[in-house]
Amino acid sequence: MHIVAIDGPAGSGKSSVSRAVAKQLRFGYLDTGAAYRALTWAVLAGELEVSTQSSEEIAENFAYSISLDPEDYWVRVGNSDLTYEIRLASVGQAVSEFASLPQVRQYMHWLTHNLISTSSLPGIVVEGRDITTVVFPEAKTRILLTASEEVRLERRSAELPEGTSIADQVTKRDQIDSRVVDFRVPAPGVHLVDSTELDFDSTVEAIIALVAKD
Ligand code: C5P
Repeated sequence: MHIVAIDGPAGSGKSSVSRAVAKQLRFGYLDTGAAYRALTWAVLAGELEVSTQSSEEIAENFAYSISLDPEDYWVRVGNSDLTYEIRLASVGQAVSEFASLPQVRQYMHWLTHNLISTSSLPGIVVEGRDITTVVFPEAKTRILLTASEEVRLERRSAELPEGTSIADQVTKRDQIDSRVVDFRVPAPGVHLVDSTELDFDSTVEAIIALVAKD
């Protein structure tokens, strides 16, 4: 299976670009941030306890599923569809705290490999903070997608509900996250794609060109 691993900070266009790349290549698409968000939602709802549990216990108690189809995105925990709920500001504000717990990261590492190895796809685009370095250092194509902070804030503000503080949502979260995983500098062997000066289609094309070469 051709694994295309994409890292990058919030607002770099990671999710929408990754999904478009997957559609064009007819690959699967895995948004790894969705699992961190769904876990946070479950903890905030009192349905899951993570601080005192091991990664194995989290795996037993968290019935997570996600679509790998870039044309049909959904996220579920048990029978509840959480596709919308995981984007709430309350989840965004709390997610970094739980993402910093080693047992949560260990569980996520296992989950990501498990979701991919049990699929029968020809290839998959996997995106998330630590994907090129920690989760899939062996991926055939590894990309760090970035953009200047100004452009990232602009792009993110177009996506957020009115009245939400963009600095809180993006800059602060990146600062906290970067203490756990450095996703700003490409690791050796990782291609750097800077989308500051590229529009959406050109960014997708640049990535597809790298995948074709690898
Ligand atoms: O990508 P997204 O913004 O949905 O990710 C939500 C949060 O999940 C990030 O801010 C980060 O704390 C965490 N995360 C992570 N590693 C990943 C994906 C997400 O730590 N691979």
